[in-house]
Amino acid sequence: MDDANANASTEEIGSILRSHDSFILLSHVRPDGDAIGSQLALGHALMAMGKSVRILSEEGLPENLAFLPGSGLVECPPSEPIEADVAIALDTATQERVGAKCLHAASRAALWLNIDHHISNHRYGDLVHVIPTCPATGQIVYQLLTGLGLPLPDESRDSIYVAVSTDTGSFQYPNTTAETYEMAADLIRRGLDVGTINSKTYDELPFRRLELMRALLNTLELAEDGWLAHWELTEAVRDKLHLQPADSEGLIDHIRAIRGVKVAVFFEEIQNGKIRVSMRSKDPAIDVCKIASQFNGGGHALAAGVRMPGPLAAAKSRLIGAIHQRIAEIRAEG
Ligand code: 5GP
Ligand code: MN
Repeated sequence: MDDANANASTEEIGSILRSHDSFILLSHVRPDGDAIGSQLALGHALMAMGKSVRILSEEGLPENLAFLPGSGLVECPPSEPIEADVAIALDTATQERVGAKCLHAASRAALWLNIDHHISNHRYGDLVHVIPTCPATGQIVYQLLTGLGLPLPDESRDSIYVAVSTDTGSFQYPNTTAETYEMAADLIRRGLDVGTINSKTYDELPFRRLELMRALLNTLELAEDGWLAHWELTEAVRDKLHLQPADSEGLIDHIRAIRGVKVAVFFEEIQNGKIRVSMRSKDPAIDVCKIASQFNGGGHALAAGVRMPGPLAAAKSRLIGAIHQRIAEIRAEG
């Protein structure tokens, strides 16, 4: 293995966290619960250690995650680079996915840490700590804080729980491990209020999200003898319903849950004529990360995504073609 790309140990990460004074915490564009949750969890721990911390997100704090305690720390990247010792990218498979404005804001940091759980991680940065067997980056942050005996303030505790809950489909996906449940138990022992945090995470949806669901259901199609389900969101519907990027978060799970479906795909028109594709698989034989990689995307075996050139019809046909090919191989094998 190339030494430059080898994983840094927990102790090596710990010595960086302890010996430096100022940190910029980053995650990916269109941040989900694991991205913002991991940033807040590590950020509040570092602040409890007396460090100076800036938490950046390309478009600022998403409305759906504003309930996280201490979320007010999340800010849009300033236009001038920040003077800080260390930049830490969390939950972000490629450095570009941090976002152009965030990259510029962090450009003076002398040291880059890359802490993630994506198997497709490009292993960028000076120190890499990528654990693909962890179902969420939030769980890696938990392991680092507890393994190193660092502070775990209440804000970090709640953020870790939400990070892991949202990335595991509420502790359901097959990559959820015994350690994940042990971690959840430990967080509850540390005072986490499970009912309240889950209700804030899952029972406070804006009405427009349900209107979005109605629009998506009108486009739902099954293909490949019921193995493939897909639906789509056009810019016209996005504008009509005044949608925000996070409104579609997690909706794909509804079509993933159809009996007989092995692959679920969500096509979404985004800015600049691009198409965002989100994929879920229920069958390890259909590795959606591999399918996404054919188009320069990535993610995990059972949850992956890619941005493709439009128009929508062309992107759909190329991607569904790649899925058709994989399904044909499986049918030929078995
Ligand atoms: P989601 O469908 O929830 O947006 O993403 C599922 C997984 O695929 C996440 O782990 C995410 O990081 C990854 N992913 C989503 N979109 C992209 C993309 O455009 N490029 C890459 N490399 N990964 C993506
Ligand atoms: Mn994640």
